[in-house]
Amino acid sequence: MKYDYDLFVIGAGSGGVRASRLVSQTGAKVGLAEESRVGGTCVIRGCVPKKMFVYASEFGRAFDDAQGYGWVQHGERDFNWQLLVDNKDREIDRLNGIYLTNLEKAGVEVLHTRAVLKDAHTVHLVGEDRDVTADKILIAVGGTPVRDTSIEGNELGITSAEAFHLPELPKRMVIAGGGYIAIEFAFIFAGLGVETTLVYRGPRLLKYFDEDLSKQLHVEMEHKGIRLITETIFTKIEEREGEKIVHLANGDTLHTDVVFWAIGRSPKVDGLGLKEAGVQTRPSGAVITDDEHRTSQENIFALGDVTDKVNLTPVAIREGVAFAETQFKNNPTKMDYDCIPKAVFSQPPIGTVGMTEAEARKEFGEVDIYKSDFRPMKHVLANNPERMLIKLVVHPETDRVLGCHIIGDDAAEIIQAVAIAVKAGLTKAQFDNTVALHPTAAEELVLMREKAVN
Ligand code: NDP
Repeated sequence: MKYDYDLFVIGAGSGGVRASRLVSQTGAKVGLAEESRVGGTCVIRGCVPKKMFVYASEFGRAFDDAQGYGWVQHGERDFNWQLLVDNKDREIDRLNGIYLTNLEKAGVEVLHTRAVLKDAHTVHLVGEDRDVTADKILIAVGGTPVRDTSIEGNELGITSAEAFHLPELPKRMVIAGGGYIAIEFAFIFAGLGVETTLVYRGPRLLKYFDEDLSKQLHVEMEHKGIRLITETIFTKIEEREGEKIVHLANGDTLHTDVVFWAIGRSPKVDGLGLKEAGVQTRPSGAVITDDEHRTSQENIFALGDVTDKVNLTPVAIREGVAFAETQFKNNPTKMDYDCIPKAVFSQPPIGTVGMTEAEARKEFGEVDIYKSDFRPMKHVLANNPERMLIKLVVHPETDRVLGCHIIGDDAAEIIQAVAIAVKAGLTKAQFDNTVALHPTAAEELVLMREKAVN
């Protein structure tokens, strides 16, 4: 063979692992380099541990709600942060082991070292100080959370990476950002009893989501005691007498124990040798790829967060499948980015698929809107003010359901099933034809008869 490997993959996250396993199973020789732990952001310091923290956080409210159902608490209730962190770490270790075993079973050669490109076919294994060559190379290095380095004292703030291993649960926290990570962690820490403040530069959180979801989210934040400060940013962070002081552009100052940057993630391409290999990037660092995941260098491919298309684990996995099918199984397969369901694990969570009302109006002019805004049965006896909103965006002529947007308990679970219907192009009449399942919150999906008047 001309090269050491048929395929060399850099990065053992969701996309890289799936692609390596599938390609290796075709009989091709596959090498996979990972400088950190196999599993990537999602498993090690993202979706998976985050969801465990969400569950931990929700229990606090569940204890309170239970009293409305007759449960009586005797004595103090306590939360042990270190126990949660240790249990979470144990589970992550287990998952990491499963990933490694599956790679080995598939015959992938896993190299635990940083790898950088030297040219279009050569990869330097930094930890082993040697070069290997490959016919094809797949870049799947993911992204990394960013701080605003133009702000004095920015290094005093943590990012999501450190949030999973805080030495102790702080009393106060100030978070910057208005996207997935800022919101999810604001609810997590507020639910664990941390006095939490969220500082967002715009007027409404989750600005790319349907506006009704954002409005309801603002209300739920207030219910949960999260202080939301909008339309301002940090200008300086300093540390004095054991506390952090955050200066805001609106002139205010916030005193806190932990400052948390959740202002986005950037492709992890520093020092990767992309230039040497002839791989072009956007100014953001995102690797430019075509719809076959091919970079500007013909034999080098990239997928997942490093391409900054749709930064979600299931998307990276699907891209890995499409890459393996196309390049190694002679079965040209294109990734379909249409109707990808999304969830924000706020409390209550958000689940969304398809077009927002604003997007649909922009494309079609008039659209029909159906909304159901109610207090789920579970919260009534608990005297919990939390509400649920279910919204459908419908094409006025074809009757096709263009989008569905939910905030409320189990929204993420519900939206996965709704996404099948929306992606399949089902109409509102077909939703209505389905018999409701009573008593559930999701039954509203098939019971909305009146169009919302704006
Ligand atoms: P997002 O891109 O979702 O949000 C970043 C937020 O930070 C935006 O609100 C943005 O404001 C704000 N921001 C950007 N720069 C600055 C700045 N200099 N100062 C102040 N605010 C700033 O990033 P996240 O970090 O929340 O998440 C990264 C990605 O990870 C997401 O895009 C998502 O793909 C993925 N993810 C998915 C999850 C899920 O599926 N549940 C959970 C967590 C992460 P503005 O709105 O004005 O642009």
